[in-house]
Amino acid sequence: MGIELEENTEQPTNQGIGIDIGIKELAVCSDKNIYKNINKTAKVRKLKKKKRRLQRRVSKKYSKNKKGECYCKTRNIVKSEKKVLKITHRLTNIRHNYLHQTTSEIVSRKPKFIVLEDLNVKGMMKNRHLAKDVWEQCFYEFYRQMKYKCRWNNIEFVTADRYYPSSKLCSCCGYIKKDLKLSERIYICPQCHNTIDRDYQASVNLMRYGLAV
Ligand SMILES: [Zn+2]
Repeated sequence: MGIELEENTEQPTNQGIGIDIGIKELAVCSDKNIYKNINKTAKVRKLKKKKRRLQRRVSKKYSKNKKGECYCKTRNIVKSEKKVLKITHRLTNIRHNYLHQTTSEIVSRKPKFIVLEDLNVKGMMKNRHLAKDVWEQCFYEFYRQMKYKCRWNNIEFVTADRYYPSSKLCSCCGYIKKDLKLSERIYICPQCHNTIDRDYQASVNLMRYGLAV
């Protein structure tokens, strides 16, 4: 029998929590709590669009006012650049506030330990399409906050080995699906036919990693 992703009706557990962080959702926890990717919300999307529009306007103004090799900064350009900067700060604020909310909420459930994957974000950055998403999600910041909040609350913070196959491992029979693609959101085990949400299974595997160490 596979573990299925049911509705979260359970009381907060006092056990360990494994957390799978990703692009689709910011964090999927082994206690079935899911935190969405804030960059996909309407509010953030609108701000990003506004920023892009302003940036385009600025670069157009620059080329319009170019004198020979020299770029002139008109008062209008200065004004628009200030607006861009303001939106950038706002976006950073929204993202970091959301991370604080999320990490505080996870810690408030008082698990004995928390397991996160070793972030080889650099490796992920090699994929151009992922790079922007990874950057926007601020994984490093999530990791940093989680770590110090654990320390403050006497929760053991565990980092799973970079080579621990948290996504590829079948949580039922231990089979390792070596050719698991990033597009496979549902994990189907060819050995025991366990069918399970990929990210949720990864979080369960990470939780078990924490139990074992
Ligand atoms: Zn299996």
